Amino acid sequence: MSNPEKPHAFLSNPLVIKNYTLLRDIGVFQYIDELNKEIRDYKSLLSGAVDIFNRTSISDIMDAAVWQISDHFLPSFIVFLWRPLQNKEDVTIKGYRNYKEVNLPIKIDTIAPFEDFFHQHPKPIAYPLLVEQMETQVTKALDEVHPELVAPIQGPSGLYGLILVGRKVLNDDYTPEELDFLQNLMSFVSNAIQNHLHYEHSVRDFKTGLFNHGFFISRLNEEISRSKRINYTSSIIVIDVDKFKDFNDMYGHLAGDRVLENIALVIKQNVRAEDIPSRFGGEEFTILLPDADKNIAWRVAERLRTQVANIKVTWEVPLPPVTISTGIYVFNKDSNVSADDIISRADEALYHSKAQGRNCTTLWRSGLLFKIEHGTK
Ligand code: GH3
Ligand code: MG
Ligand code: MG
Repeated sequence: MSNPEKPHAFLSNPLVIKNYTLLRDIGVFQYIDELNKEIRDYKSLLSGAVDIFNRTSISDIMDAAVWQISDHFLPSFIVFLWRPLQNKEDVTIKGYRNYKEVNLPIKIDTIAPFEDFFHQHPKPIAYPLLVEQMETQVTKALDEVHPELVAPIQGPSGLYGLILVGRKVLNDDYTPEELDFLQNLMSFVSNAIQNHLHYEHSVRDFKTGLFNHGFFISRLNEEISRSKRINYTSSIIVIDVDKFKDFNDMYGHLAGDRVLENIALVIKQNVRAEDIPSRFGGEEFTILLPDADKNIAWRVAERLRTQVANIKVTWEVPLPPVTISTGIYVFNKDSNVSADDIISRADEALYHSKAQGRNCTTLWRSGLLFKIEHGTK
């Protein structure tokens, strides 16, 4: 058995020294060197894979891949094209040159035509070969950038994207080892991107792109635990569109959908990166604001309320503005509340806003329900 600490201890064995010439001439030492190089390459590929799988956004995965490729050789450019899971026509393009993000002259609005080909050949392929094997019209979109290699990003539901790699800066051809490395790396990148797309899909609401109900509840539970460990205050805001049934009845469900998308946009634009804006269901939204007290929550709710009332949407005809009512609940380690308690208190506050005539904000306080039921303010 070899000792991993001293892998070549046997090399100093007197017998080896005695037979040095023989061993050298039959290539034993050279073979050991080659094996060592292979081991180093595998180790570097493995640590590269770990790095790629640890990245938490698609953009970071791509940055990591570009750095790793550039460690081995320098392609003139790398372009990533990918689509969201829910449709095949919304292609995002990200190009790199000299490790930096750049705009490359590539216009492609769908990767669907490449699907069948890569389904049958799920590997990176030299561009001239791809052109040869596919109809020219299909590959035409890639001609502008003229990649050297095209690698698929694909998974259980087909092709999600393509990675285009340009010629090497020094213009020499890719060696078989480099192609091998690229193929391995691309399969990690492809899997990491896929994982990420699937994850995003599982936590987002399809219509608005906000977080979904399930994700909101799990983050709320985490936040409750955290607020018990660390002493700080967090808030939730619940939002409900006013008289939305009437709006749908008057202008149609599709017009209503456009309005909901626009409200979601206003919400996204008015929250911090650490907030969790979500679609709770139907025409109801919730926002979790970690480490935000009642003043911050109030300001956010009121800003949303005024901005929503100014949204201008046209769907066949210019639509009248809608308004929202909001309810706020603020909690910290002393509140001793469950996720259900938090939501039902914020709902009580919302209910109060509705009872007050809608288009207003209410902060929950103890006894609010009594006031609502007895018609007192
Ligand atoms: P209130 O001010 O009391 O909230 O009145 P409301 O009409 O909004 O309340 P209600 O709960 O009776 O109706 C909610 C409406 O929201 C009914 C439903 O058609 C509409 N709605 C829920 N989800 C969607 C959706 O995804 N798209 C559209 N267009 N409408 C939706
Ligand atoms: Mg409602
Ligand atoms: Mg409503």
